[in-house]
Amino acid sequence: MAQDPLVVHAIINGEQVPTKRRYARENPANPEEIVGYGPLNTQEEAIRAIEAANEAFPTWAATGLDERIERMRRAIAQLKEKTPELAQLLSREHGKALYDAEGEFGISIMWMEYACDTVKDVLQDQDQVQEHDNGKTIITSDAIGVVSAITPWSYPFSLSTIKVAPALLAGNTVVLKPSPFAPLAVTKTMEIISKEFPPRVLNMVHGEAEVGVELTSHPKVAKIAFTGGTNTAKHIMKAAADTIKHMTLELGGNDAAIILPDFDVNDERDLRRLVISNFLTAGQICMLAKRVYVHRSIFDQFIDNYVVAANQWIRVGDPFNPKVTVGPVNNKRQMEYVQSLIDDAKKRGAKVIELGTVLDEELFEKGYFMRPTLVLGAGYDDPIVVEEQFGPTVPILPYDDEEQAIQLANHSIYGLTSSVWGDPEHAIRVARRIEAGTTMINTAAVQGLDVRFPFGGVKQSGIGREYGAEGLRSYVETHVINVPKHLDLPYIPE
Ligand code: NAD
Repeated sequence: MAQDPLVVHAIINGEQVPTKRRYARENPANPEEIVGYGPLNTQEEAIRAIEAANEAFPTWAATGLDERIERMRRAIAQLKEKTPELAQLLSREHGKALYDAEGEFGISIMWMEYACDTVKDVLQDQDQVQEHDNGKTIITSDAIGVVSAITPWSYPFSLSTIKVAPALLAGNTVVLKPSPFAPLAVTKTMEIISKEFPPRVLNMVHGEAEVGVELTSHPKVAKIAFTGGTNTAKHIMKAAADTIKHMTLELGGNDAAIILPDFDVNDERDLRRLVISNFLTAGQICMLAKRVYVHRSIFDQFIDNYVVAANQWIRVGDPFNPKVTVGPVNNKRQMEYVQSLIDDAKKRGAKVIELGTVLDEELFEKGYFMRPTLVLGAGYDDPIVVEEQFGPTVPILPYDDEEQAIQLANHSIYGLTSSVWGDPEHAIRVARRIEAGTTMINTAAVQGLDVRFPFGGVKQSGIGREYGAEGLRSYVETHVINVPKHLDLPYIPE
């Protein structure tokens, strides 16, 4: 049901700042409906936000860890209360099915709580004093400074809180910039969080590259925490080079799934799990299985059973319909890009099989909907296989032996996650040889994600890790205070 458009603002100096310029965010299921308006901030406003965060930094960094945790827990309690309405807003502006939006909130709150529970242990070397044969050494974990957090539209709540929570807990201050393709729920979330912290500790601006460039080049920004495309990250690294900033980059992926000959093609739950790892959020997750390699000995049977499983699970339609598992694609540009990859595959001779059912044909025609598809007969180097599709289509290809499967999986500029399906011990042996930040066995994508362990990519999928202890530690730097007993070196002449 259409509602009045929501208007959100930047948050600078603890205040919501109205702006002259704004952009509309439409509902991808029904683009005629405007869900809300986000501000188009200027470079000057970005600078004000950075300066506010910079002024707040010394006091916030000196604030005790207990108080920081207490404030974050209060924010989490409110987010839990507001989850139903925030998830609905996210679903309307993003296009992901409501259960999927609720899942995003669930996993993010789990991570925020984990960060609160563990931050003391993880940063336990704060003020750790070591007495030794050459005197005394104190090792502290110091906050880094102002963090620019820049996030994409695919998981806007998750990928923002995954940065904001550890950054603030570790004593940093933050300027967050979300994507214009899903700015509303995340802004309402940051309004809630920022109220629990002293003014200026958490700031937020909106906009595109102009604001982004300021956030990544300003000398008072000490760290960039970025999730988004690999090409954008190249601009960011260049912008940050002049002032040598800390960086955590979570980038694109083209995750391979290898189906071993000992995979049970009749296991319906396994097949359903694989289908979900291909099509959840209409294929728009960095860590989905985006190309599947199946051993030739089981290929035909696998495809038959996969199509049955996909047809059962995939129900495309209105994100608010509880029967729907796959909503529209988030935006027109993405829809056209994915379609161009499918058209290209067809031109090269591939067979494209439509999957699932469309529950509401009329809405389907109106919105940015795509019929999920399986691509058979593509070449190993075709764009549909080597590019990150980021949409509801998946190529499935045969391989002949294990070496070839490993080679194909590693034949990519990316290395975010991957998965191996079959006998677990056999799968682990293969997994050890895959170039990726995470390899899951008999599951993939968010289904296998565990917030207690680090997440991130190798190769052009990123630098650094989020989640787990490593995710927290990436927001501090080690500071050694040495008090040596022997102050003069014996070999230096008097
Ligand atoms: P994007 O790179 O286009 O945009 C990401 C963010 O960067 C947005 O807020 C955008 O406004 C901002 N931006 C654009 N130009 C900028 C510049 N020059 N300087 C600073 N900021 C700039 O990505 P997207 O289309 O929003 O998201 C899709 C991509 O994100 C996919 O490649 C996907 O794989 C990746 N992703 C990665 C992960 C991960 O954890 N590795 C998670 C989700 C999405």
